[in-house]
Amino acid sequence: MIDLKDLWRTYHVGDSDVHALRAVDLEIQAGDYLAVMGPSGSGKSTLLNILGCLDRPTSGAYVFEGREVGGLTDAERTLLRQRQIGFIFQFFHLLPRLTALGNVELPMLFAGVSRSERRRLAAAALDSVGLTERSHHRPDQLSGGQRQRVAIARAVVIKPQLLLADEPTGNLDRKAAREVMELLDGMNAAGQTIVLVTHDPEVGERARTAVRMDDGAIVERKVNSK
Ligand code: ADP
Ligand code: MG
Repeated sequence: MIDLKDLWRTYHVGDSDVHALRAVDLEIQAGDYLAVMGPSGSGKSTLLNILGCLDRPTSGAYVFEGREVGGLTDAERTLLRQRQIGFIFQFFHLLPRLTALGNVELPMLFAGVSRSERRRLAAAALDSVGLTERSHHRPDQLSGGQRQRVAIARAVVIKPQLLLADEPTGNLDRKAAREVMELLDGMNAAGQTIVLVTHDPEVGERARTAVRMDDGAIVERKVNSK
């Protein structure tokens, strides 16, 4: 599904170059559950942002479903991001003025989905994360774990081919983190391809495979036994 070849991402800061990614090679198959581990600053978010078309590599190839993403126009990349990729972030990134339902409807706003269909799909997605009862609550009326579940519903409501999560449990207590991980595990078991960034070994071990990054490079790959 995804093939990264000799991917570099270099930032120029003052007079020096920071290599956030160095020669990353990575293959992701449909149905994979991949954890990206490594210390702070090792390039995990940079890698995820490139996978999610939020950022572009400095050099190297990113092939998504047979298409070289670097060769797409900005409009085509935006479509790819809106239609095929779901995102979950550490700090939820929900809109504070919208209800849970309103937040989950958002990704469908620009996709030509009718109002009634948006409502129906958003309600179904909230139901799938166990939050039907909280549909009309705003984010500040929800716990951290509930907010992250709303964010998960928003990420999957478009049925993305790829679900990306950057430290999705990083801001949650143990119990809420476990609930979020159980949701993600269940989604992968149902076929959802997931790439998850975490520095929590307990979270990383739930994924099927794990790569460890250090200073912009993938330094270890391992397959977790179940
Ligand atoms: P991680 O998510 O593993 O903590 P990041 O991918 O955020 O790491 O960062 C990787 C490296 O790139 C770090 O050294 C960081 O300081 C640097 N970096 C990230 N974003 C920028 C930026 N916008 N400008 C300059 N350097 C950056
Ligand atoms: Mg990060």
